[in-house]
Amino acid sequence: MNTIATTLRVGLIGNPVAHSYSPRLQQAALDALAIPAHYELWQTNPEELSARVASLLSPTYLGANVTVPYKEAVLPFMDVVDPLAARIGAVNTIVHHDEYLYGYNTDAPGLLHALAEQGVGQKLDDDHISFAGYTAIVLGAGGGARGAAFALVSAGVERLIIVNRTLERGQRLAAAVQQGSNCQVFCLNDPEFLIPHPSSLIINATPLGMHVAGEHTNNENASPLSANILARFASDTLVYDMIYHPTQTQLLCQARILGFRAVNGLSMLLHQGALAFTLWTGEPAPLEVMRATLF
Ligand code: NAP
Repeated sequence: MNTIATTLRVGLIGNPVAHSYSPRLQQAALDALAIPAHYELWQTNPEELSARVASLLSPTYLGANVTVPYKEAVLPFMDVVDPLAARIGAVNTIVHHDEYLYGYNTDAPGLLHALAEQGVGQKLDDDHISFAGYTAIVLGAGGGARGAAFALVSAGVERLIIVNRTLERGQRLAAAVQQGSNCQVFCLNDPEFLIPHPSSLIINATPLGMHVAGEHTNNENASPLSANILARFASDTLVYDMIYHPTQTQLLCQARILGFRAVNGLSMLLHQGALAFTLWTGEPAPLEVMRATLF
C-alpha cells in the first residue's frame, strides 16, 4: 500500500502560525487513536486564503483550524455554518465532509468546558453546560470576548457584564447578544461601575498581560483590572485569563495573591482542540493525551 497516498491531512490556517501549540496537541491525539493523519502549519497570506480553503475539498483533507486573522474571513467560503459560529461571526474549525465544507466555532464551547472543569457552570446530561444563576464579567469586546459572550448567553448565564476599553464596541457586542435586560456594558477605564455588581466569574479577553514574541511593549506586565478593583469581588470568584503565554499573567498573579481561583487559557485551548478533533474524526478526543502536551 502507498502510505503517502493514504495519509490524511489537517492543519492550521493563519498568519502567523509558527508559534502555535495546535500541532503537538492534535498530532498526539491523532497518533493515540492511530489515525493516519498529519497535522500541518499552513501559513497563509490574505491573497492565498480562498485557494487555501478550497484545497480542503481534496479527498485526503479532514479539515482545518483557523486562527488570527482569518476567523471571520473564512465564513463566506463555508458551504454550511453552524448556528453558534454564525451568531458569533467567527469560524475556528473547518470540517471537510462529503465534498462540503462545514464551519464551526469551538473556541466558545471550549471556554465553557474549561470553566466547567473548574466547577463553574453545571454539566447537563447531554454534555451541554448550563450557567443559569451565574453572573459573568467579560473583559474585552473583540473576537475572544464575542465568543465568550455568545457562549455564556446560550448557556443561560443570568447576568453578563461587558467591560471594554472602547465603550461603543462593548455596546455593539451587548446589542448583538442582548437577551432581555441582563447584559450591561462599562468602560474599562471606569471600573468603579463594577463595584455594585458581585460576580462569580471574571474572564479576561483582552491581550493585556500577553507576551508577544519580538515585541517590546508593556503588555506583558499589564493587567486589565487593578488589585484594588479585584479585591472588591467575592472570595469564591473564578478569574479566567484567556492568555496562556505567559502561563502566569499579571492578572492571575493579582488574583492568586487575593486568594481567588485563577486559571490561564491553556484549558480553553485544550478544549477547543478536543472539540475540533471530534468534529474531524468522529471520535471522542483523548483529552488526557492532549492535556499532557500542554501542561
Ligand atoms: P481582539 O479581537 O483583537 O480583541 C482585543 C480586545 O482587547 C478588544 O476588546 C480591545 O479593546 C481590547 N484591548 C486591546 N488592547 C488593549 C489595551 N491596551 N488596553 C485595554 N484593552 C485592550 O483579540 P482576541 O482575538 O479577542 O484575543 C484577546 C486575547 O484572548 C488574546 O490574548 C488572545 O491570545 C486570547 N485568546 C485566547 C484563546 C484561547 O484559546 N485560550 C482564544 C481566543 C483568544 P478595543 O475594543 O477598545 O480595541
